[in-house]
Amino acid sequence: TPWLEGSMVVPPSSIPKNHTDPNRRKAKAVFVVLARNSDLWALTDSMKQMEDRFNHWAGYDWVFLNDEPFDDVFKKFTQSLTNSKCSYGLIEPHEWHQPDWIDEERATAAREEMIRKKVIYGHSVPYRNMCRYNSGFFFRHPLLADYEYYWRVEPSVKFFCDIAYDPFLVMQDQGKVYGFTISLFEYIETIPSLWDSVKDFIKKYPEYIPEGNGMKFLSDDGGETYNRCHFWSNFEIGDLNFWRSEAYMKFFEHLDEAGGFYYERWGDAPVHSIGAALFAKKEQIHFFEDIGYRHEPFQHCPQGEAHSRGKCWCDVSNNFDWEWYSCTNKYVDMFKDE
Ligand code: GDP
Ligand code: MN
Repeated sequence: TPWLEGSMVVPPSSIPKNHTDPNRRKAKAVFVVLARNSDLWALTDSMKQMEDRFNHWAGYDWVFLNDEPFDDVFKKFTQSLTNSKCSYGLIEPHEWHQPDWIDEERATAAREEMIRKKVIYGHSVPYRNMCRYNSGFFFRHPLLADYEYYWRVEPSVKFFCDIAYDPFLVMQDQGKVYGFTISLFEYIETIPSLWDSVKDFIKKYPEYIPEGNGMKFLSDDGGETYNRCHFWSNFEIGDLNFWRSEAYMKFFEHLDEAGGFYYERWGDAPVHSIGAALFAKKEQIHFFEDIGYRHEPFQHCPQGEAHSRGKCWCDVSNNFDWEWYSCTNKYVDMFKDE
């Protein structure tokens, strides 16, 4: 797919003519949604847009995961939005809940401190369960076993533009492992000791860190300190086997043992981002510039020719990419230096 490499060649503005051909080349890919039953109507909003913008012609399956059983209403109204197969999975309690070996007194004290500091979701145990599950478990769920790529979809997000090519095939054909649309700085209160744990890991397992990785996205001083940049993980197109790799699995276990998912409030966004930037080559991280996307309170709106090509409906002047709180400049700068 040469058009992503050069600026002169542009992706198609109409969907592939063979999209109804059952033998059309497809990736082993799936939409993954972590949600509660109460998220139903916020989720149908997102799902309808994904179907209308892309999946009505692409026909990828959906997998929904929950720590409680999905009810029949949830199943009925999600399945009825798509011609694709929907599967509904229950999360193993031991993969979701706070492990026994976490010191509950210390975890409680940390939550109370965060309430005082008014840290968003600082009080919440379920939110921490969710962050830990997304960081280390979702890609091992049995319903995802036969898939290689995923696109994470959350409730109440917006997809602004028609997608006339298959992003999963871009991932596969170009050996990408992680795709994003928005990047930004993390709140330091949620991750005070995360980088120390990361540095321990790098020291212990240098063999997992390839040459040409994306460290420059994470650190402005060669790895000494974390600049708090991360890809916003409510949108992700990723390679499931990358998370299943020995490097990332060891990395997750190392972080999990440090306890920061509960003693602090480590998010899956910095954990995934650090994993992707350390264990992949920087070229394997892809900025999906032509996918218009909003998760409150930020949006990525495609600029220039891409806006009309995708028949986007977002305000072109409302684009987070170059705002001061965005890290996308650091992503772009990684490719300039050599
Ligand atoms: P935010 O984007 O950081 O504000 O967090 P969200 O509330 O959007 O949660 C992130 C994702 O996890 C969404 O897809 C939610 O539906 C899902 N989620 C959050 N908490 C829970 C939970 O306790 N149970 C389940 N099953 N899903 C959750
Ligand atoms: Mn969200």
